[in-house]
Amino acid sequence: MKTIGMIGGMSWESSIEYYRLTNEGVKAGLGGLHSAKSVLVSVDFAEIELMQHEGRWDDATQAMIAAARQVQAGGADFLIICTNTMHKMAGDVAESIQIPLLHIADATAEVIKARGLRKIGLLGTRFTMEQDFYRGRLVDLHGLDVVIPDESDRAVVHRVIYDELVLGKILPESKAEYRRIIARLEAQGAEGIILGCTEIGLLVKDDDSCVPLFDTTLIHADAAVKLAIG
Ligand code: GLU
Repeated sequence: MKTIGMIGGMSWESSIEYYRLTNEGVKAGLGGLHSAKSVLVSVDFAEIELMQHEGRWDDATQAMIAAARQVQAGGADFLIICTNTMHKMAGDVAESIQIPLLHIADATAEVIKARGLRKIGLLGTRFTMEQDFYRGRLVDLHGLDVVIPDESDRAVVHRVIYDELVLGKILPESKAEYRRIIARLEAQGAEGIILGCTEIGLLVKDDDSCVPLFDTTLIHADAAVKLAIG
């Protein structure tokens, strides 16, 4: 079995899901007492969130590179970054280590394409919904047609992530807002919705949508398990 390397803490509310899912996946695959071999380096999200919102992306990149090197030194065979947003610097991170990086958007796009879907809604932080590192990758590398919420709905999605979900707050009124926004994306022709933030799956479940949901946490953890146990 390969050792899964994880950079977590962004937020730890989703990192514990990664830990649970990778262990459940290895147990399901190998049976008995098997559990996942992993190395987790967990950062202080307060520091990272400040860098993001102050636009200090160079500092954030250095923080991710340092964490990735720690993961590698800990004996991991490959790396997953347990957040969509911090794939903004995935290229720089991958170039700074010798072990491979399993990209969350690539893993997600492969599942969507295997389902035969092309037009897809994307929910996540503002950075993920608006910037090329994620949306552009889905379009250019994977040929998907990506629909995002309008400006005011993007503000809602972003606010709920940073004010609630990363703090473990799951509020019914925010769930209703997400349901409304998902329905609007469906009305624009989305054949499925990417939950492109690793905490959204804590709020939104399959029955909140008429079209399939693609939870990046589940997909990423599953891809890591497959790579670990072959
Ligand atoms: N976990 C979230 C994501 O998947 C947001 C936290 C972060 O900014 O890293 O994007």
